[in-house]
Amino acid sequence: MEPPLSPSSSISYHMSPEEFRRAGHALIDWIADYRQRVESLPVLSQVKPGEIRAALPDQPPLQGEPFATMLADLERIILPGITHWQSPNFYAFFPGNASEPSILGELLSAGLGVQGMLWLTSPACTELETHLMDWLVGMMGLPEQFLSTGPGGGVIQDSASSATLCALLAGRERATNFAVNRRGGTGRLVAYGTAHTHSSLEKAMKIAGLGVENLRKVEVDEHHAMRPEALAARISADRAAGLTPAFVCATVGTTSTNAMDPLAAIAPLCQEQGIWLHVDAAMSGSATICPEFRWVIAGLEGVDSYSFNPHKWLFTNFDCTAFFVADRRALIETLSILPEYLRNEATKSGAVIDYRDWQIPLGRRFRALKLWFVIRHYGIEGLRYHIRQHVALAQDFASWVRGDPRFELVAPVPLNLVCFRLRGSDADNQALLDHLNASGDLYLTHTKLDDRLVLRLCIGQTATERRHVARAWARIQEEADRLVAVEPR
Ligand SMILES: *Cc1c(COP(=O)(O)O)cnc(C)c1O
Repeated sequence: MEPPLSPSSSISYHMSPEEFRRAGHALIDWIADYRQRVESLPVLSQVKPGEIRAALPDQPPLQGEPFATMLADLERIILPGITHWQSPNFYAFFPGNASEPSILGELLSAGLGVQGMLWLTSPACTELETHLMDWLVGMMGLPEQFLSTGPGGGVIQDSASSATLCALLAGRERATNFAVNRRGGTGRLVAYGTAHTHSSLEKAMKIAGLGVENLRKVEVDEHHAMRPEALAARISADRAAGLTPAFVCATVGTTSTNAMDPLAAIAPLCQEQGIWLHVDAAMSGSATICPEFRWVIAGLEGVDSYSFNPHKWLFTNFDCTAFFVADRRALIETLSILPEYLRNEATKSGAVIDYRDWQIPLGRRFRALKLWFVIRHYGIEGLRYHIRQHVALAQDFASWVRGDPRFELVAPVPLNLVCFRLRGSDADNQALLDHLNASGDLYLTHTKLDDRLVLRLCIGQTATERRHVARAWARIQEEADRLVAVEPR
């Protein structure tokens, strides 16, 4: 017997297709307008802690509200609390450059609402991703061992941090013949980075159970790059002490200064020692789309895994990390699970990729769409053009710093990051940074090098042009003038 219909069964609270169309068009208009006016907004949000929450109602609405009200609140409450990563005047940390095609791809991914954990749960989600990862191997000049047509392959991860963790887990299992997976307890495994390796490696050491005390910070050269002979010495010392070296993370373009660890010397050492070598090229990896910048990955054919973030510098909004392995079996054996409810014929046949075995979570978004739209909209030539522009602008900025005796460059400028400082105290440099950021005209961040405060200017935003960088330099000089004027001499 049918259950009785409730009296209200014809009511729906859902947004109607017509409403959705109207609201959607209004939102796209809002985003387009935002992207046009973003350069006139203060880059670093100027709100105080708690200010945004104080503007929000205490309780959620009992009855639904019109979309127009939400859009109005977006403008009134949310926008003041936004630090504008998409501003052409954003030079802090590293870029997170979105673009119109990537935004549309992201919207489409939500519109399809697909879960791509298995090939079966949306074959296109898996196959487009595999295909794009193979495209990237060619486009970015990566070695053929990363092609899915051989023993390797690529996958889109949510972040470089997850890629490093997956690589560390696979390295852990390879070093122990999969014993940790079975029995737990990592024994006496050690891993290697430098003081400039991204903090996500330290986090991965905690998560993977190796422990941060078993992370060695290998000595660096005068440009903050790993010294291969120091790595070799550390490995021998650890072996002599009865420990098992399991994992090395080399960085192509460190976050602090864009230092390049020398892969061509590190890779043969790791191969000889049977140690998993992962290369983290989070931001700088995007540069290899230009043949003239591929020197940064010289030696990559000898590594086990590699990742870079199209969500930093390849015009694809967060999240989109391209992660490649030379031997996918080690990764899959480390991460695979097959509960009864996921069993299916396609998986059993072995003819398909199930990306759930290549990552930490089970579920996965259809991220390939946005990257596909970006690559097809710009073409390789368009992407190269904009990357080259950013590098050229950073080189110009570096030459202006070099030409002003009040300032000094404190690290080489291989690509798009300039590390510089006022010749003066840390307090002077901090004051310069604080004044500039408080003005809202631009946003810079800092690092510490050899115990001195250093300013970082990283160029990679989608809309950054020469006029923006020239104005940034003019503002920096102006604030420096003011600092000198107020200081007793
Ligand atoms: C930014 C950065 C990361 C972290 O990237 P996520 O994708 O946010 O995890 C890792 N490594 C380097 C070198 C970075 O610059």
